[in-house]
Amino acid sequence: MTYVVTENCIKCKYMDCVEVCPVDCFYEGENFLVIHPDECIDCGVCEPECPAEAIKPDTEPGLDSWLQLNAKFAASWPNITQKKDSPADAKEFDGVPNKLELLSPEPGEGD
Ligand code: SF4
Ligand code: SF4
Repeated sequence: MTYVVTENCIKCKYMDCVEVCPVDCFYEGENFLVIHPDECIDCGVCEPECPAEAIKPDTEPGLDSWLQLNAKFAASWPNITQKKDSPADAKEFDGVPNKLELLSPEPGEGD
């Protein structure tokens, strides 16, 4: 089991999650974060910290594609452990449906 970052993080990227993770297993893309499934220890601490409610346990149904996406990008994006400013328009994108098409495959800056 692992926790996964899902659609509503895209272009919200508030980053409250990264500082609470005891094993630093968040990785940063240009407009999304992912959790490394092999590093996550399933502690669940990050889930309630996400203002966008984008972090879910992979035991919830229908998250297979998000699990694969987290694993894929965690292998190439840089590690992130410290909160930065969220995008200026983050609130406007919170809750917007069908954001997957907006997901950038480009890496973020990391720490
Ligand atoms: S707190 Fe939520 S929205 Fe913010 S970066 Fe983490 S998963 Fe994404
Ligand atoms: S569940 Fe725990 S170990 Fe996994 S990403 Fe969240 S804070 Fe980190």
